[in-house]
Parts: sequence; C-alpha cells; structure tokens
Amino acid sequence: MPINIKTINVGDGDAHIITLKNEELTKIILIDGGKKNKQVTDKVLQLLDRALTENHKDGPDLIVCTHYDRDHIAGLIAVAKKYGNLIKECWMHTPPAEYGRFVTVLKEAKSQLAMDQGYKTETMFLYEQMKADVDFTKQVDFIIESYEDMQDLRSLLSGVSIIEPFVETNTSLEGFPEFKVVLPSKTFYDRFVVENKMDFLGKEVLLAEMISDAQGHSIFDYDYSLSVCDQLPVSSIKNGVTPVNMVSIVIQYQEEGRKYLFTGDAGIESFTHLSNYENVFKDVHFMTVPHHGSRYNVSKELVAIFNAETAFVSAAGTRDSKGNVKRPHAYVLGCYADHQTKVFRTQDCTDYLEFDEESRVIFHKQSIRIDIGFIEENGWMRCSPLNAPENCFFKNRYPKALWWDESKAAFRVLDMTTVSLNPVNLPPDYLCTVEDYDKLVIPIIHDLDQKDKLAKKK
Ligand SMILES: [Zn+2]
Ligand SMILES: [Zn+2]
Repeated sequence: MPINIKTINVGDGDAHIITLKNEELTKIILIDGGKKNKQVTDKVLQLLDRALTENHKDGPDLIVCTHYDRDHIAGLIAVAKKYGNLIKECWMHTPPAEYGRFVTVLKEAKSQLAMDQGYKTETMFLYEQMKADVDFTKQVDFIIESYEDMQDLRSLLSGVSIIEPFVETNTSLEGFPEFKVVLPSKTFYDRFVVENKMDFLGKEVLLAEMISDAQGHSIFDYDYSLSVCDQLPVSSIKNGVTPVNMVSIVIQYQEEGRKYLFTGDAGIESFTHLSNYENVFKDVHFMTVPHHGSRYNVSKELVAIFNAETAFVSAAGTRDSKGNVKRPHAYVLGCYADHQTKVFRTQDCTDYLEFDEESRVIFHKQSIRIDIGFIEENGWMRCSPLNAPENCFFKNRYPKALWWDESKAAFRVLDMTTVSLNPVNLPPDYLCTVEDYDKLVIPIIHDLDQKDKLAKKK
C-alpha cells in the first residue's frame, strides 16, 4: 500500500498532498494549505488539481486543518472555495466560545485604539500594549485574522462532513484505518484552549512568542560534528509556543511496519503528554519537522525517539535582524543530523519536495530560471581570488559575489571581502529565480552606484 507525499514550498507554512493507494482505493489528502499569498495558493491548487486528475477524482477525499494559524489555513480557504462540496471530509478543530470571546476582546481593544476612545478595564492591558508596541499589534491582528479565517473555512464547508479529531475519538480515514489522528488528546486540548483564559493568552504567550522569535542562531555558525541536541529545550510551553500550535492535529500512517508522521506545529508537551508516547512515536520512517523547524518545538529526547530516517521541513529560511536563520533552526537541524536523519528543506529552490512510493526524495524545481548562463549574460565574471569557490562570479569591483552550488542548482550570495578567508553566505540562502535575483542583487548594485557617484563628486 504505497504512500506518496508532496510537500509544497509555501514559504513559512505547510501544505502536503498525500496519495494513499491499496488494491481497491485511492485517496487524495491535503494536510494544510499554506499562507495567504496568491502565488502560494495557485501552486497548491495546481498541484492538488494535478493529483486529482491523475487519479480521476473531482475533489480531495480529505482536507486537514492541523490548526488555524494563517500559514496553514489560508490556502485551505482557496481549496474550499474551488472544490466546495466535492471535498469528502474535513478534520479540524473549532475553538470554543471562550476563545471566540477572547478574540472579540482583542478586536474591541484594537478598535478603541484606532479611534482613540480610551479603554475598559478588561482591555486595558491589551490597549496599553498595542499603543506601545507595533509588533504586539501585528500579533493581535494575526490572532484576529486567523480566527476569522477559521470561521470562513467552516462556513465554506457547510455541506462537508467536518470531524473534530482527538486521540479518544480514534479518528481515521475510511478504507485506511492506519491513517489516523494520534494527537491531541481531548484532555490536553481542553487544558490549552478551554481552560486557559484571555489573561494567559494575552499576556504571556504573545510576549513569549515575540521574545523567542527574536533569538536565533545561524546554521553557518555551528560545527555539525559537535552534539547540538543538548541545546534543545525540554518544554515548548515555557518557551512560548502558542496554545493553537500546541493542539495541532498530528497524523500517523503505518504501512509494512513503517511509520509516517505529520506533525503540524505541535510542540514538545503535545507529544509527551501521551502516556505511551515513547512507543507511539518511536522510529519513524518519514516525518515532517514540527513548526517549520522552530527552535522550541522538539527536545533532545523526542528527536532520539523519532529516530527518523527522512524528514521534510517546510520553511522559508527567513532570518532575524541579526541575519540568523529562524526556521529551520540550526539546533534542530543539527540534532536531527546527529541521529542520521536526512533532512530536506522546501526553501532550497524547490517548488515541492516529493517522498515517493519507493522512499526516494525528489526535488521538483519547475520554476527555477537562474542558471550560469543567466548570470554571465548579466555581466558577471568569474572570480579570481585564490580561495574563491569554483564557479564564483563577481560584477565589476562589487564586494558581493555569487557562487553556483551544483547540488542545489542554485546560487548562493557571498561576501567577497572575506572570501579569501571563509566565504560568508548572505541571505537568502539560495538565489533560485530571477525574482530572487532582482530582490537581492539589484538593491546592492543600486546602493554601490550611489556610493560611486558620491565619491566622484568629492
Ligand atoms: Zn505554522
Ligand atoms: Zn502555527
């Protein structure tokens, strides 16, 4: 009973198309749909459409919204708009009224701020925070919008069977009992989403998430020969992973003794709260790295239990203000590497990654348009410094150079001023498309031109 997995490059977000087959049945499943961005949703719709056509289906057999953060749910809204009642089934959670009330209070505080009306006691903290901190306001917007997205998705699926899956409900796919929900448990879910009140969500989690986002470390700073697993945390909750992420739906599929694990944005306690977690998650054949490889979502213990053969991580590789990669985090990648897990990243110039029926990993890169020819046509010349990597290109005297990485069929940007010692990679990790080139290289050239003009004036 082969399984085929396609993890679409949706930046920092998730979208996986899964094809399951046995003697009688074929099922097409979409786990999450990626963020709100036309390019991203077009790609998801196109690849889903292709999978359905190839298997003579009108609509997906199952869509799963692991949790309703925007980077997971937005694309599902596009899918629901397109396929509507042709979708056979949907697995998602609907937060209780309590959470809805929290969102209402956030909205209220926001509009009070917008109209400068002052505040009520219950919105005082939020009002003050929003007034003082733009980032906090952004985070508030994110929560409000995600909640509204969840309501939108539900109303678009009014004719579709929606199941709220928990461990206790033994939710599995019809015809494929081995494709089943292994997290969260109802008790865990209730503890996070029902019992935690606005206070907790508003004050601690939001702030903690912002703090944790501000701390990152470059994967280039680290020597993989050293053990990094000890750098991983033992708790996601204490490190500010949000309740919505913690209650992500986690799905496991088993065939011929092999385990496949789809983890959404679940965190450490999401896994370890199960009494038999060491058994359930032991030795997986394939998994998705939770939460786009965030630093706080796996522990040393968990990575050892997973002992995964292959892992996909869906992330954009964005960096913080210090230039350090946030997701996937160096410690997470390093710890998986310590367990001989082969980790593949969507950000590495792919349209999507495929794990095929024979457990082969295939990079799909239809939209790659940058090659050595393109660079030479644009006036780049081969580098001359002794220690410059082979296939290094520079333009005039500019200190930025490009290096062609054959393994990724893409360029990396190097800083030529340090190339004779150690080439320094500059963001983004790879230059894949002409758009990447424009975004990164053109501002550099423009900046240098300006400096040239100023120097001549003097
Ligand atoms: Zn996410
Ligand atoms: Zn999330």
